[in-house]
Amino acid sequence: MSLRFNAIGSITNETSGVPIPTSTKITGIFNENVFTTKTAREFLSDEAYKSLVTSIRGGKKIDRIVANQIANGIRAWAESKGVTHYTHWFQPLTGTTAEKHDSFFTLKSDGTAIEEFDGAALIQQEPDASSFPSGGLRATFEARGYTAWDPSSPPFIIEIGKGRTLCVPTIFVSYTGESLDYKAPLLKALEALNKSAVDVCNYFDKNVTKVTATLGWEQEYFVIDENLVNARPDLVQCGRTVFGAAPAKGQQLEDHYFGSIPERVYAFMRDYEQEAYKLGIPLRTRHNEVAPAQYECAPIFEEVNIAVDHNALLMDVMTRVAKRHKLVVLLHEKPFAGINGSGKHNNWSMATDTGVNLLAPGKTPKTNLMFLTFFVNIIKAVHDHADIMRAAIASAPNDHRLGANEAPPAIISVFVGQYLSKVLSDVETRVNTKFDEQDEAILKLDLHRSIPELMLDNTDRNRTSPFAFTGNKFEFRAVGSSANCAISMTVLNTIMADTLKKFKIDVDALMEKGDKKEIAIMQVIQKYIVESKKVLFEGDGYSDEWHHEAQRRGLPNLKTTPIALDAMVTEKAKKLFESNGVYTHSELEARHEIELEKYIKKVQIEARIMGDLAINHILPAAVKYQNDLLTNVNGLKAAGLPETAYASQLNILKAVSEHIQVIHAKVHDMVEARKIVNNIESTRTKAIAYESQVKSAFFDDIRYHVDKLEHLVDDDIWTLPKYREMLFLR
Ligand code: ADP
Ligand code: MG
Repeated sequence: MSLRFNAIGSITNETSGVPIPTSTKITGIFNENVFTTKTAREFLSDEAYKSLVTSIRGGKKIDRIVANQIANGIRAWAESKGVTHYTHWFQPLTGTTAEKHDSFFTLKSDGTAIEEFDGAALIQQEPDASSFPSGGLRATFEARGYTAWDPSSPPFIIEIGKGRTLCVPTIFVSYTGESLDYKAPLLKALEALNKSAVDVCNYFDKNVTKVTATLGWEQEYFVIDENLVNARPDLVQCGRTVFGAAPAKGQQLEDHYFGSIPERVYAFMRDYEQEAYKLGIPLRTRHNEVAPAQYECAPIFEEVNIAVDHNALLMDVMTRVAKRHKLVVLLHEKPFAGINGSGKHNNWSMATDTGVNLLAPGKTPKTNLMFLTFFVNIIKAVHDHADIMRAAIASAPNDHRLGANEAPPAIISVFVGQYLSKVLSDVETRVNTKFDEQDEAILKLDLHRSIPELMLDNTDRNRTSPFAFTGNKFEFRAVGSSANCAISMTVLNTIMADTLKKFKIDVDALMEKGDKKEIAIMQVIQKYIVESKKVLFEGDGYSDEWHHEAQRRGLPNLKTTPIALDAMVTEKAKKLFESNGVYTHSELEARHEIELEKYIKKVQIEARIMGDLAINHILPAAVKYQNDLLTNVNGLKAAGLPETAYASQLNILKAVSEHIQVIHAKVHDMVEARKIVNNIESTRTKAIAYESQVKSAFFDDIRYHVDKLEHLVDDDIWTLPKYREMLFLR
């Protein structure tokens, strides 16, 4: 019997055996496995504790002696929880998290066995990292890579089965200091934002000394039975189905969205949530998504660096916990054609150390001017750097999603809602009128009363925008579900830092000419609105009209990753990232190269899987069915029945034969096309060719014929689980 029917048969058994975790009060387990500052207070000396806290706040470096004390404290805590091993935990450019475990256990020179974790081991490690992507950086400079402790993200304990490992969040850099991971540039971008945002805040409030960016991600994912997934080599190897006819019932009834969660999935959710709480991940929301078998979870927002770590950690935890339930979590952006894909909305804002959310409208005209300043600056930032934002979300899997079913288009635009659109156009149309301090344009900025109700009301929300204002934060919706949030967060915080820096220069220039502060600010805001209004769009982002309108406005619509990635290495991008201390030119070039290579490999793997499945699964089933039909037709003929008795069989036979011929020929041609493309020297040209000569030239075409066969061939001999089974059986 094929894996498919075995899998279907076993599902009923799985459902009955699923362990449902017992309910626990969340506050009772929250942060249980995290070395929080509260834990630090317990396990560290006063000196070590103080030093750690200052460095968490972005302050001074920790010296070696204190580092030893901190390391000892962390080990004492970890050992009290049964930990024997530790690892530097990091986020290399492969897109997953990485760890290499070492034991505390060691032998002294005289052979005595001891448990040890010293400051040096806490601060720096040298993993054998030669197989992580470096885009040539390490080849050019030095083969070694180092992980370095990031004190701003607390150590935690991962439990796998009965084993427990202490994980120290780290950044990953080359011997000469180039970033080789997602976190190092993120930390630099956050620091750049802090600096420029504090400067601008000080126009309004001298007490602000620190601005932190905040992130609340919403993680979408599919959950599929493990046995069904194992019977689909494409899901196992690419995370998405390359074939599969649309089921009779897909998502058209919209009965899955916010519906009741199936018991087996519910048990899985509660299980991974408990793991997450212990790790300090503040999950808050869980619900069904629009597509069948699709779900979402979201935490309470946190400081960006922590939120990024928590998302990377959660993706890992979910994947592992699912196994316990004989389920598989699909984090791919588009596992199934014809239904919604998965995104990872990045809700983003900025907060001051005086407790103000800079994207929440204030209560007085003065604080509203501060809100308007940050609000307009982000619009200007997105307008000026829409190309870089597009590059930040570019990946082979996200190409399947952007612009498809219920996903934002590849055109970057900003939605601000009716009320703020009106405010912006009011300010804008006052060109040539001098603002003065008592001007109603400033006084009328009595936003707090109107905005919250309007924006928080769902009717004024636009779910089709890639970047939308939602009352007290912006929501970057085009980010893909499998992406590391650090990529989009590095870009967003850098472009904001840069725009605010220029804003200050512009305002200061007017003030030097004698303008009062508020007037100067208002003038620059007005100028920025005029300069960037073409990126504002309130309409339906899914519509064809928008594509035409965007083209008319001159907004780019880059549909494929290899082209979208160009924006990473323009002169503009290099200047932007270098002047804000985020990436050097060579780091950008390296990252560009790595992303292109990832794209090439992903398309290559999909093409191979398509060929394998077509030749080893699809054609054999089709040929078997052909034989059945032939036997039948010949039998009827021999029995002397008239042609009308087997006319339909002959028609099916003809159709099946035609599809077989086309599939075989196209798979052959696709292999030939790959051979040619593989010889291309330049990575960029090769990636573009993989897109046009392999993916676009063959994927949809081959799939069309395979899916037709799925509709024709006897269900009994079809080996691959069908959409209706993967999406609806659990
Ligand atoms: P939605 O209706 O889009 O699901 P929610 O109100 O549930 O929106 O919020 C989605 C995410 O936005 C949550 O993670 C939430 O914590 C986060 N969020 C709320 N305020 C902020 C903020 N100031 N900065 C960053 N994220 C925020
Ligand atoms: Mg949302």
